[in-house]
Amino acid sequence: MSPGSHLVLSWLVAEADSTLPRRDRFWIAMAGILPDADGVGLVLGLACGSWDLAQHWYAAWHHAIGHNLLAAVVVAVAIGAWCRSWRAGALALVTFHLHLLCDVIGSRGPDGYQWPIPYLTPFSAWGWTWDGQWPLNAWQNTVITALALGLSLVLAVRRGRWLTELLSVRWDAAVVEVLRRRLGRR
Ligand SMILES: [Zn+2]
Repeated sequence: MSPGSHLVLSWLVAEADSTLPRRDRFWIAMAGILPDADGVGLVLGLACGSWDLAQHWYAAWHHAIGHNLLAAVVVAVAIGAWCRSWRAGALALVTFHLHLLCDVIGSRGPDGYQWPIPYLTPFSAWGWTWDGQWPLNAWQNTVITALALGLSLVLAVRRGRWLTELLSVRWDAAVVEVLRRRLGRR
């Protein structure tokens, strides 16, 4: 799935515990998009002015470095320690794995490549795939993202915070104010 979809879903997972502070929710949501940091080769290659290099690094690193159990544990432990909260670490582990699961079910490339998840790297070369995987731009991803966004709006009206809290508390307050006015609750 696209990073935007991963982010919305991860923020919803962070909202599973409504008592967590904003900082914890932020890092739990970040854990849900961090696996895709291994796609940085594309940016680096373009920064070097070479499309060939960008493609080469992307193919070599994407899914190979960040999409595995070891990376999930490192990220979850780091977030748990940083937030001083085992619940934040546990939910970071959940959002990281939700990312992997979403990639397995709905991230087939335009060329049909499944981008297997090397879940047990570097201990095993096994690649996690699913026969029913749909393409990255499939309607299923659009529906899942739309439903997640809808749920996030319900939470925004009820709890007084939305995805914009990941960027700024002030912006978030302004956005929630508008949402509550539009969606019928002040
Ligand atoms: Zn991914």
